[in-house]
Amino acid sequence: MEIEFIRALRKRLPKSDQLAVGPGDDAAILQRDGSVVTCDLLCEGTHFSLANDSPLRIGRKALAVNLSDLAAMAAEPVAAFLAVALPRPDTEIAEPLLEGMLPLAQQFELAIAGGDTNVWDGPLVVSITLIGRCPHQPLLRSGAQPGDQLLVTGTFGGSRLGKQFDFSPRVNEALQLQGDRLLHAGIDCSDGLALDASRLGEESGCGVAIDLSAVPISEAAREMASQDPKRSPLEHALGDGEDFELLLAVPPNAATELLATQPLKTTLTRIGSFIEKSGLWREETEKLVPLPTTGYEH
Ligand SMILES: [Mg+2]
Repeated sequence: MEIEFIRALRKRLPKSDQLAVGPGDDAAILQRDGSVVTCDLLCEGTHFSLANDSPLRIGRKALAVNLSDLAAMAAEPVAAFLAVALPRPDTEIAEPLLEGMLPLAQQFELAIAGGDTNVWDGPLVVSITLIGRCPHQPLLRSGAQPGDQLLVTGTFGGSRLGKQFDFSPRVNEALQLQGDRLLHAGIDCSDGLALDASRLGEESGCGVAIDLSAVPISEAAREMASQDPKRSPLEHALGDGEDFELLLAVPPNAATELLATQPLKTTLTRIGSFIEKSGLWREETEKLVPLPTTGYEH
């Protein structure tokens, strides 16, 4: 539903010369000073459950998902605005929510600049707007070219076992690679590897072929598959989402170099390539076979 809504929105919105990058990327970029702006909203029941997850972890996640969107733009964080709808009568959770955000804010030298709180009879809702800036060329979803390699950071799947709260936003990794001018396009994996890879291809006007045997599968994905054999570890890796790793389009020579030198704190893995034919495909077969775009559709 979210994809159709954003498509309709993009058609409906008047063109504005205020925007260097508008809706459809991981963040917008303002024309006047290049500020990068992103906003993410977390809801009780969808992104967390107050019965199981502490307000500290929820607060951390609310900030981290936004930082991940800045990472996807190769932007460094500047300031955050927090908006919270607190469920009556649990209004005392406001404090640990904020407390959960502070270590990340400190780590990324991010100013908590303002916000708003309300109390209501609904569930807990936390929304954060982040402002960032790009010290290098912004990283967009739209720059991939046929022949580029699809590289990813980290491992995928099973984020529900903990990574959805504890992940490290790949801000420094994106800044490092973009500073070395090694990237053509990027996106962060929030809704599922297959779905987000297909988005990267679609925004770049090309297709993506994935080598399923190369997808780095997390321990958590294997654990979830062992608990319930209906879904394989690979299916978890392709479709679970909330991995918050980077999917990067890298020109072939740069990709070879990166894979050999592994300059990041986290491992880079090649999982496929960009091709002319639009859509999402399996790479390892002689003939391209369509791959379902599994993932979480809001
Ligand atoms: Mg994103």
